[in-house]
Amino acid sequence: MTVLVWFRRDLRLTDNPALAHALSTGETIVPVFIRDDEDAGDGSPGAASRWWLDGSLQALDADLRRRGGGGLVYRTGPAEAVVAALIEETGARAVVWNRVYEPWAMRRDSRLKAALKTKGVAARSFNATLLCEPGWLRNKQREPYKVFTPFWRALRATVQTPPGLPAPDRVANDATAPSERLEDWRLRPTRPDWASGLAAEWSPGEAGAARRLEAFVGQAVFDYADQRNLPALAGTSRLSPHLHFGEIGPWQVWRAATTAAQATVGDPFPGGVETFLSELAWREFSAHLLFHVPTLPTAALKPEYDRVAWRDDPPALEAWRRGRTGYPIVDAGLRELWATGWMHNRVRMIVASFLIKDLLIDWRQGAAWFWDTLVDADLANNAASWQWVAGSGADAAPYFRVFNPVSQGQTFDPTGAYVRRWAPELAGLPDTLIHAPWTATPDQLSKAGVVLGRDYPAPIVDHAVARHRALDAYRAVRTTDL
Ligand code: FAD
Repeated sequence: MTVLVWFRRDLRLTDNPALAHALSTGETIVPVFIRDDEDAGDGSPGAASRWWLDGSLQALDADLRRRGGGGLVYRTGPAEAVVAALIEETGARAVVWNRVYEPWAMRRDSRLKAALKTKGVAARSFNATLLCEPGWLRNKQREPYKVFTPFWRALRATVQTPPGLPAPDRVANDATAPSERLEDWRLRPTRPDWASGLAAEWSPGEAGAARRLEAFVGQAVFDYADQRNLPALAGTSRLSPHLHFGEIGPWQVWRAATTAAQATVGDPFPGGVETFLSELAWREFSAHLLFHVPTLPTAALKPEYDRVAWRDDPPALEAWRRGRTGYPIVDAGLRELWATGWMHNRVRMIVASFLIKDLLIDWRQGAAWFWDTLVDADLANNAASWQWVAGSGADAAPYFRVFNPVSQGQTFDPTGAYVRRWAPELAGLPDTLIHAPWTATPDQLSKAGVVLGRDYPAPIVDHAVARHRALDAYRAVRTTDL
């Protein structure tokens, strides 16, 4: 008998329950990856995600071959049709996969399961992506949690750390099927090749994920509570793209952090580790929200906020995208994103607040830019986080919280090291002025070699004025609601 192992966002061999199950049957396996972008609609991967996917698939394919297998079978098309064709071609009697939870993917998977059942082909799916599957945790009234802290408490109290599944020594799949060539998918940019900065920063694939995790639990996890908000430092794990593509699972991360803490300080949950695991739980909370509210990426959770009179301002949106707003911490973040495909969480909040509140541009426009440029673009995390900043989401920042880009910069980048890295034209300014160059005297600017409007933009909005405009726009919809 042959078993199809359908890899999706579980691009790893270790701790992969679907693969482990298939191998435990002792049957021939055919590992498959299906490019089913058409099924995904707006959820199809953006440019940075496609770049990552290419590297991740190459790594998985090589790992399978090193273990004696014939490598991944690549196919394009609606998954149901592709799986049906593969069953015909290989005579497979079973299909296994690890679940994903985007609304479109869940609809696809349930259709597929029903179709396989009518054909008499076994279908089994597993959880490899989350600590706790969405839908499991409910509050005392049996309703989904709407607030993070009780959700996290319930998660912590409910879940049991499962035993890990080692990577198999051998994956000898002697049944193969015709495969497309990954190169023909053209997932990487050619001209212009904007991805060189991504390649310098990241190593997509399971081995790259394991290295990041090992380095992080070696030291930074213990300082996480103190350093996670400082974008100039490597104080966070940078595991997000690896987690998104399933090159590492959240339980592997959990086990590694708690084991390192137990070995180092004799306590699996010291402060830094506890804080880190709670951030990992925000990922769970986002998945949980998307599961219960499939419109999360497109509609405000608090519906009145869909009546905010967003501004249509293409030049301002473009200045934001390119990191040319005149606010150094905002520009540094957007340039870090463009150069590396990633941005520090604190700075994501600052740039998102700036777009939504200072520019009064619809959060969905920002989410779309992130979707295209982030290597960790994730439907649930992205939508939930943008709604959090917009104040329209679950357990969100209150609508009247408008981040001040100057004081945020001064607090979280006090020496200006982050700004100097990503906006080097400002490097000569003293620390006291680097977050507000327009407050420098002509003499100070000239000493730093900066001409505002030439070397670096003057602010495209006045924050104090913009803040009032945003509060008025928000209050208008709240008043209407009363
Ligand atoms: P660490 O601090 O090391 O955290 C470990 C892991 O926990 C992360 O890898 C991530 O999987 C998860 N995590 C941490 N913080 C959050 C959070 N606030 N929400 C959800 N999960 C979290 N994260 C994405 O993975 N994809 C996105 O598309 C995304 N879009 C965002 C958009 C906005 C506007 C904001 C404010 C945040 C967004 N985040 C997103 C959340 C967060 O910024 C990133 O997960 C984090 O910066 C990744 O860096 P790290 O791996 O070093 O995180």
